[in-house]
Amino acid sequence: MSNRQTNTDVILIGAGIMSATLGSLLKELVPDWNITVLERRATAGEESSNEWNNAGTGHSSLCELNYTVEKPDGSIDISKAIKVNEEYQVSRQFWSYLVNSNLIRNPQDFIVPVPHMSFVQGEQDVNFLRKRYKALEHNPLFDGMEYSEDPAKLKEWIPLMMKDRKLDQPIAATRIESGTDVNFGALTRILFDHLKSENVDIKFNHNVDDIKRARDGSWELKVRNVETGAVERQTAKFVFIGGGGGSLHLLQKSGIPEGKGIGGFPVSGLFMVCQNPEVVAKHRAKVYGQAPVGAPPMSVPHLDTRVIDKKESLFFGPFAGFSPKFLKFGSMFDLSSSVKGHNLVTMMAAGVKNVSLTTYLIKQVMLSKEKRMEALREFVPNANSEDWELLVAGQRVQIIKDTAAGKGTLQFGTEVISAADGSIAALLGASPGASTAVSVMLEVIKKCFPGHIKEWEPKIKEMIPSYGVSLLKNPELIRQHQLSTARALGLSEKVSLQASH
Ligand SMILES: Cc1cc2nc3c(=O)[nH]c(=O)nc-3n(C[C@H](O)[C@H](O)[C@H](O)COP(=O)(O)OP(=O)(O)OC[C@H]3O[C@@H](n4cnc5c(N)ncnc54)[C@H](O)[C@@H]3O)c2cc1C
Repeated sequence: MSNRQTNTDVILIGAGIMSATLGSLLKELVPDWNITVLERRATAGEESSNEWNNAGTGHSSLCELNYTVEKPDGSIDISKAIKVNEEYQVSRQFWSYLVNSNLIRNPQDFIVPVPHMSFVQGEQDVNFLRKRYKALEHNPLFDGMEYSEDPAKLKEWIPLMMKDRKLDQPIAATRIESGTDVNFGALTRILFDHLKSENVDIKFNHNVDDIKRARDGSWELKVRNVETGAVERQTAKFVFIGGGGGSLHLLQKSGIPEGKGIGGFPVSGLFMVCQNPEVVAKHRAKVYGQAPVGAPPMSVPHLDTRVIDKKESLFFGPFAGFSPKFLKFGSMFDLSSSVKGHNLVTMMAAGVKNVSLTTYLIKQVMLSKEKRMEALREFVPNANSEDWELLVAGQRVQIIKDTAAGKGTLQFGTEVISAADGSIAALLGASPGASTAVSVMLEVIKKCFPGHIKEWEPKIKEMIPSYGVSLLKNPELIRQHQLSTARALGLSEKVSLQASH
């Protein structure tokens, strides 16, 4: 054991997309601050941010039906869809800034255009989709969206899904060309390579075992080299806990009052993956359906074209499941060890309320491959089992807390929890996830560095021109940004121009 102690300005725990994004923003805002990254795995982006552990959808509500809910009066609430879309525009702008400034290269290594579609069957869901389309059709953020109930049109859009389909019930789909597939794993590694070139100290194989407040108000971390067992102390004025599923434990260790009473519920994911080039060539879209009754929102089934290392494949899923681990490479004791005196009642309340969800997840884990193929055949009627393999994806830890809706409420979004003095912040939750990393990390910056925001604003506006402006209220800005980001990121300009009518 070593007593070596190192001081730095900023420590980022975890080398996933969130820390990569926060580090990249801070490096532009305050280049002379020293930043250290501590990651327990051997490389960056091995957990949820890895390309094989998530669906790679650039979430902008172009196709995800769970972002638009039907209100009791039958109208469609599009407020969440607008929020997620605007947040994705922010990510596109920051990535474009990095490319235009030559800080990162080859955007096609992490982002490619793939049309986004919603697909439904049965009268009730067709009515819903029609109403959803009507609610979005004239909204400039969703310009370019097409709708059809015509099987011939759908055959043109999704030949693989229409082949051998029984047309014994109504079907409908929406399609928008400006959707994207994002390789968040590649982006994470690209951002960390960039940070390394900017002298950020990145320590892989280093696990943060403990976090304590030091007497001078800074934070002291107990860090263990997982290869040698050597332990050292690292101190920093500001700590970001970007540990993904590992963040809750670290937040609890920090002891900040804002972290009390919060629990976590892990939901695992599985995809079916097809790499047969003949099948893959027949589908080019991300097609989202409706979640089965009783399923949590993150298990909405979708059939996605993925582009990983320039090779196309198809992902179907995710099938949700239950595992007590908080990280894919986590421990079976993660869930039990997260239950503390301060969140016990909240966790118990959540346990009672979510028996049916837990039962659903356990049943999902037990599904045989053939049962999963049956779900896939709702999308690809003639899918052949031999073409599809099971892939274990990342873990998502949903937040459990007491809210106005009651004790022990399960939350499906993300939340930044920070100390009152802004010296430490953690990101909990997983949805909409990596797509909105830039907005979420700007929120961390706003919450934790309020004294600097005024001074940093001009630079933030240079990086994210729409910062502080509602895109929705400025349709001309949407057109401008979609076009400029499409150019910078190598996405089709035709698509963006079409979206500007
Ligand atoms: C099945 C699935 C599908 C998804 N699909 C999408 C999608 O289509 N689009 C989208 O935008 N998002 C999607 N997401 C969400 C997205 O993947 C996550 O929101 C995002 O990757 C989280 O990034 P992160 O940096 O917070 O966490 P992670 O990528 O999990 O990184 C956390 C890092 O912290 C490290 N760490 C943890 N504890 C410690 C410790 N004590 N010491 C040191 N290091 C530690 C871990 O090893 C890990 O490398 C999906 C997620 C899942 C699971």
